[in-house]
Amino acid sequence: MDFITGYDKEVGEAIQAECRRQRQNLELIASENIVSEPVMMAMGTVLTNKYAEGYSGKRYYGGCQCVDIVETLAIERAKKLFGCDYANVQPHSGAQANMAVFLAMLKPGDTVMGMNLDHGGHLTHGSPVNFSGMYFNIVPYGVDDEGFIDYDEVERKAKESKPKLIVAGASAYARTIDFKRFREIAHGVGAYLMVDMAHIAGLVAAGEHPSPIPYADVVTTTTHKTLRGPRGGMILANKEAAEKFNFNKAIFPGTQGGPLEHVIAAKAVCLGEALKPEFKEYAHQVVLNAQALASALKKQGFKLLTGGTDNHLMLVDLRGMEISGKELQNRCDEVFITLNKNTVPNDPRSPFVTSGVRIGTPAVTTRGLREADMEKIAECIWLTAADFEKQKEYIRAEVTKLCEKYPLYEG
Ligand code: PLP
Repeated sequence: MDFITGYDKEVGEAIQAECRRQRQNLELIASENIVSEPVMMAMGTVLTNKYAEGYSGKRYYGGCQCVDIVETLAIERAKKLFGCDYANVQPHSGAQANMAVFLAMLKPGDTVMGMNLDHGGHLTHGSPVNFSGMYFNIVPYGVDDEGFIDYDEVERKAKESKPKLIVAGASAYARTIDFKRFREIAHGVGAYLMVDMAHIAGLVAAGEHPSPIPYADVVTTTTHKTLRGPRGGMILANKEAAEKFNFNKAIFPGTQGGPLEHVIAAKAVCLGEALKPEFKEYAHQVVLNAQALASALKKQGFKLLTGGTDNHLMLVDLRGMEISGKELQNRCDEVFITLNKNTVPNDPRSPFVTSGVRIGTPAVTTRGLREADMEKIAECIWLTAADFEKQKEYIRAEVTKLCEKYPLYEG
């Protein structure tokens, strides 16, 4: 980083400031993680110079023999890790992977069922401000008052609306998703099932969450959340769907030009890491930490949507408390805890204010924190919500102690 600052002071200093911020903050945003140095290094290589439109062995440019090796490695590792027949590792992001699947499987105007954004779904699952909601007829489904997916309600809506595609998967759902049930519902009404496992991909890879691969017609994911890779997306499928739908064509030339081979190299490194036994231990610890944090938060006095968690995240339900999600997020920022506000079902406050916060353990687990540390985090978040003015110096000092105990990128 000194190298960049010496060359371009303004950009270099901003990067160094971000590094300091990451070191001094507890990162509890459920969709973030901390990549290994090799993953990061792969992104900063000569591969960024290379145009490689097309696919390995069938490119539109000369000189692709080396990036072909890299991309093939990423594909083979993805197939091995998730146990599937087909992988496209080119999507620049999770949103783009989803867009390409829609392009491959649907026509504009087709009916799609996806989880409501306000109930934990993602923008690309049918939000009116996203391409998915603009070009398709969306029938949203949601969660019940306690925050659980109501599968009977999903089935009822599917029978009524006869969608062509059902999207399962979420950005803010703390419980195991029953992919088998989703498949039965989808196939029962003649719909395809797409699973967006972006949040839980690392848990699926490690066997900490049931895999959607045996049930879904197609699976999309990001690579930068629990999977702990570079920012990007992937499409995975079994042979039957991969032969029926041209996902490759929907990525290139359908939704992008040249692939980011430097990012694909980092995906290959990350997938290689995820195939190692240490990754299983990591993913298991993510879940143990989430469970420890959930019970410690409840002990402090918070209510959790669904009462707890099965995965890497939890949703604190602030309904009935004076503080909003926005205010708690802002106060946490002041004491070096990073998390995000989140709507709860039937939220009485606006989506900009919200009555909840989402908290996840992937990044702090990578950093080395364990169950006992979760008790301290829960205490700090509770004091931030309940007694901020009096306690903020104490909270800052406690968070700083934790961050110093588990240093970041100092090896
Ligand atoms: N799908 C889900 C379930 C997500 O949670 C997200 C991001 O938060 C995405 C897709 C989109 O990923 P990206 O930000 O890479 O476009």
